Amino acid sequence: MPKMMKALIKDKRTPGIWMTQVPVPEIGPNDLLIKIKKTAICGTDMHIYNWDEWSQKTIPVPMVTGHEFFGVVDKIGGAVEGFKVGDRVSGEGHITCGHCRNCRAGRRHLCRNTVGVGVTRHGAFGEYLHLPAVNAFKIPDSIPDDVASIFDPYGNAVHTALSFDLVGEDVLITGAGPIGIMAVAICKHVGARHIVITDVNDYRLELAKKMGATRVVNPKREALEPVMKELGMTEGFDVGLEMSGNAQAFQSMLKTMNHGGRVAILGIFSQDVSIDWSQVIFKGLVLKGIYGREMFETWYKMSSMLQSGLDISPVITHRLPIDKFEEGFKVMNSGQATKVVLSWD
Ligand code: NAD
Ligand code: ZN
Repeated sequence: MPKMMKALIKDKRTPGIWMTQVPVPEIGPNDLLIKIKKTAICGTDMHIYNWDEWSQKTIPVPMVTGHEFFGVVDKIGGAVEGFKVGDRVSGEGHITCGHCRNCRAGRRHLCRNTVGVGVTRHGAFGEYLHLPAVNAFKIPDSIPDDVASIFDPYGNAVHTALSFDLVGEDVLITGAGPIGIMAVAICKHVGARHIVITDVNDYRLELAKKMGATRVVNPKREALEPVMKELGMTEGFDVGLEMSGNAQAFQSMLKTMNHGGRVAILGIFSQDVSIDWSQVIFKGLVLKGIYGREMFETWYKMSSMLQSGLDISPVITHRLPIDKFEEGFKVMNSGQATKVVLSWD
């Protein structure tokens, strides 16, 4: 009989997620077995929970979901070097192929054959996770467990925000989800001048304000142009970070960018979006798509910015024991939450 463990599993093709017993994953020579301490709920987990069109097409069932985690090394594959039992780790959930052109060039975030932990392979919502050791990232002792459990979305925010020079620049962020809110704190930390963030959710805008936004804007009530004037901006935003996945938000961003502005696009649009290309062409805008985190440059920046005073912890609005996972998924669906962290210990 294999050793069994508790896990949150998607095993029916209907909305929901269920706690059940599954075998503890076996590890190969290059893997770590990680004892999970904390996991966080991501927007992707909500898609899987709600069983929307994307999940119906993407998620193999049955599947242990989840990819935002913190844990300690429990077992080490025979060929692994540089880890010991008890090391505190989080890890990169994109498992790359290692043999495509980009992987071979060290640009692993551009791998064309990525496999996703908790999306297309066994995930982190269980007592144990197996992960290639190269994907694990050691967490400095000064970083608390719950903050380490949100390194994955924090990494999306860091990768997007640090794509362009922010020092002294005026930044527009569209979307005050957890990632947009963390991006506010990052822009502030590295020295942006004005940080304006938009969202249609006032609860989230409130938190964005606390994290250092110069001005929060709800486009249902207010346009960006008068806000720019109020701030003394005479030209346009220098850097745009699209983190809403909303077409209108993106279109209004393009309109308010300065000539020569740079735009990093993280938000995933659920439909085809048409934009006014004259904004891009005549203004000479630079657009950059962002996927995941740079392996592992982003991870080092994440860790060192926390050590140099960046505080992202207010983005964690709920902490619950794993047995109350239903409550966590419900509060995420309500929009009155940003990060929900579930404890497995
Ligand atoms: P989220 O869905 O919690 O946040 C999106 C926010 O956009 C929400 O708060 C929503 O209210 C807001 N929004 C909706 N309409 C808006 C409008 N008209 N103007 C301004 N804001 C509006 O998501 P998140 O977890 O913070 O992630 C941000 C985005 O990045 C999502 O689209 C997500 O799918 C995407 N994402 C991409 C990657 C990647 O690798 N490219 C990774 C993680 C997340
Ligand atoms: Zn590859």
